[in-house]
Amino acid sequence: RRKWNRMVGVLKELEEGCSTSITRLRQVVDAMAVEMHAGLASEGGSKLKMLLTFIDNLPHGNEKGTYYALHLGGTNFRVLRVQLGGKGSGILGHEVERQPIPPYLMTSTSEDLFDFIAEALNQFIEREGSGNDLPPKERRQLGFTFSFPVRQTSANSGCLVKWTKGFSIKDLVGKDVTTCLEESMAKIGLDMRVATLVNDTVGTLALGHFHDEDTVAAVIIGTGTNACYVERTDAIIKSQGLLTNSGGVVVNMEWGNFWSSHLPKTSYDNDLDAESPNPFDQGFEKMISGMYLGDIVRRVLLRMAQESDIFGDLPSSLSVPFILRTPLMAAMHEDDSPDLREVARILNDTLQISDVPLKVRRVVVRVCDVVTRRAARLAAAGIVGILKKIGRDGSGGISSGRMKSGIESSSTKMRRTVVAIEGGLYLSYTMFREHLSEAMTEILGEEVAQNVILRVSEDGSGLGAALLAASHSSTV
Ligand code: ADP
Repeated sequence: RRKWNRMVGVLKELEEGCSTSITRLRQVVDAMAVEMHAGLASEGGSKLKMLLTFIDNLPHGNEKGTYYALHLGGTNFRVLRVQLGGKGSGILGHEVERQPIPPYLMTSTSEDLFDFIAEALNQFIEREGSGNDLPPKERRQLGFTFSFPVRQTSANSGCLVKWTKGFSIKDLVGKDVTTCLEESMAKIGLDMRVATLVNDTVGTLALGHFHDEDTVAAVIIGTGTNACYVERTDAIIKSQGLLTNSGGVVVNMEWGNFWSSHLPKTSYDNDLDAESPNPFDQGFEKMISGMYLGDIVRRVLLRMAQESDIFGDLPSSLSVPFILRTPLMAAMHEDDSPDLREVARILNDTLQISDVPLKVRRVVVRVCDVVTRRAARLAAAGIVGILKKIGRDGSGGISSGRMKSGIESSSTKMRRTVVAIEGGLYLSYTMFREHLSEAMTEILGEEVAQNVILRVSEDGSGLGAALLAASHSSTV
């Protein structure tokens, strides 16, 4: 009984530590908007890098022809071919091939990595036969999605700032990513032009905008998390004099590194951070994204097991980092069987904890909910932070974010605003999505929330890059 109470104590403390009251969320919204300002004001002015992408026109739906895309970023590597029909006909068809990145390549040399990618691309093209409608001899145009922080030097070149998500190839940091890819392609005689180098969020934004021109921002919540949006060039103090035809430019926020003292951080977060390969880095990402949620839950369960006897003798599995992957955590959270059969199965199969009583299984579900709810609500606050920065949160002020028309005057009527969203966590974890959407309405209020649409932009990171390759090829 006393031990059970201790476990309850741990749960209570977790719930309090993860509290995301509306007041707290509003503080996070404001902090996000403030940090965005700071990151745009000067280089290194904020933990938000606010990287300029040089993308100033997004696809509108008139693009035509066959284009290619490569996506390197998370656990998988993708090659795509997209057929665009021109005005009104949209995407006629697309093929995608995915393959896992062999883990040794994630920490090898940049030459090894890019040779592997170029070869995969080459094989994809060899297999296409007459599968494209390119005129003979026409050079293939490639959109390259590289989902790591890059300091762009143009729309199709840029240097890697740092690795994230478990990659660590030291010799690539500071180097031009496009040059590396082109060198590897040249070695095997693959004739392709890298038309655009983009972050995955920018690809997602491009696909979103292709389908719906009210799309002003994009968010990805998968293994990691990041966001980008359209900013007015005159609001970017750190690169004064930047001129674009549209008056706007896409900014890659690298929001995974956002930090604010208002974020509800617990001892579990501190421990996870301290034991990670990148302490004090990617703080927001570590509270939100798929790479980490399961491990936060594991840490809570470990503490409960240490403080009480809910799992019998201390199960050694609970000390193994990342043993509980987020998809399994989600499966436990979403177990709707009355006796929580799935929870029992996962505890048994993955953590080798058997015969867990129903009331303890309920506690496990509760822990999953607390951790996911916090993540989803913080992500929602981040999104509203972006909307606030561009005057689309319904609070009045100058609105912006639309490329075609550039600067707009303030208006009291809230404009329809679309945020493109993708990533495995968001797409596959229903409870996460529900908590996020509920928090959006809570922060914005019903009326404003009706004008803010989160639109899934599936495969956007790859497809969008091909679309950008299209819109950036017609102008050269
Ligand atoms: P990546 O971010 O690696 O490029 P994805 O956007 O597909 O790829 O996201 C994959 C991540 O999404 C996984 O690492 C996992 O954390 C999360 N995820 C995938 N499926 C689920 C699921 N069913 N429930 C919860 N999280 C999931």
